[in-house]
Amino acid sequence: MQITYDCPKCLQPERSEVTAASQAIMCPDCQWTRPIGEGDLQGELPTRCLACGCQDLWRQKDFSQTLGVAIVALGVVLSTVAMAYMQPELSLGILMVFALADMILFVVMRDCLVCYRCHARFRRIPNLEQVGAFDLEVNERYRQEAIRLKQAEQSVAPR
Ligand SMILES: [Zn+2]
Ligand SMILES: [Zn+2]
Repeated sequence: MQITYDCPKCLQPERSEVTAASQAIMCPDCQWTRPIGEGDLQGELPTRCLACGCQDLWRQKDFSQTLGVAIVALGVVLSTVAMAYMQPELSLGILMVFALADMILFVVMRDCLVCYRCHARFRRIPNLEQVGAFDLEVNERYRQEAIRLKQAEQSVAPR
């Protein structure tokens, strides 16, 4: 499995390979490390976030929203160009091809897991179906928690 996360110490985006035999994940930039405990993995399926220990993860398509929007935007630009050259059929065709490509990409994309708390992503995991999809209520809980943490940090920070 592959995990992408922001290192809690140096805040750099990192990518690590984790197997059932891995003992820990380590940040290559600052050597921050977090051990992988016995209960953290169920075979290849993480039961909690390996970066922050949070027990709530959601399952979603490993599809970047930005990429999807970029594909559609490119299709619109190209079809506008075709329109400018008085090619309405070509223009429509381009739009349809790009919309279709967007759809196919979404369907073939595999699922990944995302941590509610630190948004680390876990890719290439078998048997993901047992994990639930995004839950707004759970997310709200973590959002509130993050806000409280931030306020607490600010109140102890030296002025
Ligand atoms: Zn680091
Ligand atoms: Zn996490």
